[in-house]
Amino acid sequence: MVDLHTHTRCSDGALTPAELVELAARKGLSAVAITDHDTVDGNAEAVAAGQNASIAVVPGVEISTQWAGVTFHLLGLGLDRTTPLVEERFRFLADSRRERTPRMLQKLRGLGIEVELEAVIREAGGGVVGRPHLARVLVRTGAARSVQDAFDRFLGRGKAAYVDKARLSPADACAVIHEAGGAVILAHPGLVEQDRPGLLPALLDHLLPLGLDGLEAYYSRHSPAQSRRYRRLAGERGLIVTGGSDFNDGRDGGPDLGSGLGDLRVPDGCYRALTALLAGRDG
Ligand SMILES: [Zn+2]
Repeated sequence: MVDLHTHTRCSDGALTPAELVELAARKGLSAVAITDHDTVDGNAEAVAAGQNASIAVVPGVEISTQWAGVTFHLLGLGLDRTTPLVEERFRFLADSRRERTPRMLQKLRGLGIEVELEAVIREAGGGVVGRPHLARVLVRTGAARSVQDAFDRFLGRGKAAYVDKARLSPADACAVIHEAGGAVILAHPGLVEQDRPGLLPALLDHLLPLGLDGLEAYYSRHSPAQSRRYRRLAGERGLIVTGGSDFNDGRDGGPDLGSGLGDLRVPDGCYRALTALLAGRDG
């Protein structure tokens, strides 16, 4: 079994990259991908940790982008090189996230809720600062009852303290992943369908000429019927199939590493298809 979608504390996960790789090895996974939001900062540590463990580590990223008014995520899997363009694009993403938090704090202040930027940065533990960190600070200071409550009332899309972030276009996201040597995978298509029923086939056909390589058919919150359907959609378009848990910290009923919400099983064949695709491109 493999897990090709996980988060470390470089974005909104709880474990260091090395801890995550060690946990994946203890769970008996044969491969794990690190796919932090908008950053590749955890990859080097994870790859180094993989060399001392009996597990293949896939350096990756998860980039948030938008099409037809719907936000969706692209995974970059197998990012094994950097160039000035790659560095510039990831710096842009980090900067836009950094600017977003002070603007959300300003909106909260307008609602009579004071949060120190320092507290949010501390909560992120040196990683990329995101809404989950701000939500946890709101819970700790008593302004929200739970992380979910913080999103429902303040931080969710369109809520009182929400600030949209600057994003890469789908074309730019695909280009930067390819330039970094990776494969472009559309993450959790089930969430796309939830946001906009019926959009998925058109989205896939829009992304194909931009360089889409695969579809994350296996996912914690996909039903067996959904997973089958996504594998069929992938097959019809010559896309590889991948899968992952979207593990963050395993708390609050969130997905666990490898097994997701309990019954996730991502076959080794997904990892083999990915490495075959990337090897074919290099050769
Ligand atoms: Zn994710």
